[in-house]
Amino acid sequence: MIEFAQVCKRYPNGQEALKQVSFELADGEMAFLTGHSGAGKSTLLKLICLMERATSGQVIINGRNFNRISRRKIPTVRRDIGMIFQDHRLLFDRSVFDNVALPLLIAGYPHREIGRRVRAALDKVGLLSKEKHSPIILSGGEQQRVGIARAVVNKPPLLLADEPTGNLDPDLSAEIMHLFEQFNQVGVSLLIASHDLSLIARMHYRTLVMKEGQLVQDQEVANHSEVS
Ligand code: ADP
Ligand code: ADP
Repeated sequence: MIEFAQVCKRYPNGQEALKQVSFELADGEMAFLTGHSGAGKSTLLKLICLMERATSGQVIINGRNFNRISRRKIPTVRRDIGMIFQDHRLLFDRSVFDNVALPLLIAGYPHREIGRRVRAALDKVGLLSKEKHSPIILSGGEQQRVGIARAVVNKPPLLLADEPTGNLDPDLSAEIMHLFEQFNQVGVSLLIASHDLSLIARMHYRTLVMKEGQLVQDQEVANHSEVS
């Protein structure tokens, strides 16, 4: 699903955010990405969702070589990747339904299909009853679940999350992680950037550790599905 081969990223100001990063994430795999602030986690995720381009090396996502994707094709390629942000980036002047529908509207789905898919996504995150509300009245955990519904509404094979539980207390964080596991169980690949080490330790998934732009550790852990 994800293949990085000796990927370097140097920002225009000269900052080297990624140095020779190589790793693979298999189809259907879920892994964490961790490391101190400034280690390069967000940059790595941005290369996968084409918000930034690699300076050198190969980025291959879902069989597509991102070095060869033209600017014009970026929106189409991005549809296959669901992004979840720490601050969830919801639009507070629109309903929960409309927030989740946005990616489908942009992609030009027919009206009826949008209704069906949005409700399926809201059902998966347990928020079907709140579709008409404004996200502003929801709790932090619920807002993040709306963000997750929006990310999965297209049914992308790959989900990326950047500090998805950064603003949540431990119980709500565990709830969000449980949701991610449910998507993983139906075959979705996930890469989750987080510096919540205690949460990661409890989850028993592969963990990639970054330090100063380099991948310094890649720890495989017994897979959950094998344990349970
Ligand atoms: P993390 O997500 O692990 O905190 P980042 O990927 O955000 O790390 O940042 C890695 C390094 O790249 C840091 O030194 C950061 O200051 C730098 N950086 C991030 N974005 C930019 C940018 N747009 N321009 C210049 N430097 C950047
Ligand atoms: P339909 O296939 O008719 O659109 P659903 O939207 O309910 O029906 O999804 C069917 C199945 O696909 C569900 O079991 C769902 O969990 C699973 N699925 C596969 N990939 C994803 C994804 N990226 N996001 C959400 N569900 C997914």
